[in-house]
Amino acid sequence: MAKSKATSRSKNTTKTEEPEIVTTTSAMDKTAEDSIESVVKKKLTGLYTLQLIDTHIDKIRIVRGELPLEVQDLEDEIEGLETRINKFNQEVSDLEMEITQKQNAIKESQELVKKYESQQMNVRNNREYDSLNKEIEYQTLEIQLSEKKIKEFTAAIESKKQLVEIAVNELDERKNDLDIKKNELKDIIEETQKEEEQLRQKSKKQEEIIDDRLLGAYKRIRANARNGLAVVPVERDACGGCFNKIPPQRQLDIRLNKKIIVCEYCGRILVDTSIVESISL
Ligand SMILES: [Zn+2]
Repeated sequence: MAKSKATSRSKNTTKTEEPEIVTTTSAMDKTAEDSIESVVKKKLTGLYTLQLIDTHIDKIRIVRGELPLEVQDLEDEIEGLETRINKFNQEVSDLEMEITQKQNAIKESQELVKKYESQQMNVRNNREYDSLNKEIEYQTLEIQLSEKKIKEFTAAIESKKQLVEIAVNELDERKNDLDIKKNELKDIIEETQKEEEQLRQKSKKQEEIIDDRLLGAYKRIRANARNGLAVVPVERDACGGCFNKIPPQRQLDIRLNKKIIVCEYCGRILVDTSIVESISL
């Protein structure tokens, strides 16, 4: 690492024809160079600190934005379950009505059978007797058919009631979840609003120590960046914002902190890991 740095540095010297920066031995120049570096480094450190505070605010807002969605999901689920339960209950009462109808039909058939049987006592010939017998047979079959239907409807009611029970249990659980989620949401909103307010003050204070031009650039880049990142570290030889590779020479320039360098792909301001590591919030 140190070796490659040294070689790049000497390469830089010959290529850019600015030997005074690197090769000078004058104590005064050395101090001047150090002070440029320290000024830029200070600027970048201040700016990256601001970025970290603002990113924290962004994250809080995202989390807070997702919670109401979870509540909405639960409310939708509850509404769906209630609709399902109502539908099952309606089906059960329809089946109960059909059972009552079949029971009435059985009663009517039984009355008819009784009537035909008493008529059979007074028949004048075999033909009348047989004809009544046929009627009785028919009504008996009707009764059997109705009894079969009643059995089927009763079984259907049983299974529907089981489904209702399952849905009701699920509904209770979801309602409970919703209560918990709503309380959680209330707590988080209160908590994070307080935290956000503190961070906003911190952000404002941090903005005050950054010069206007740099701050303007920061805000402009941040507004255009999807993830709100305007200042990013170099990570694994790539821009921490768009992940495009950064050429070694450019990485070296970033590391030297002689000027503010932006990513040539996304325009974000790049900082060296040493700056990242130097900040503790
Ligand atoms: Zn980039």
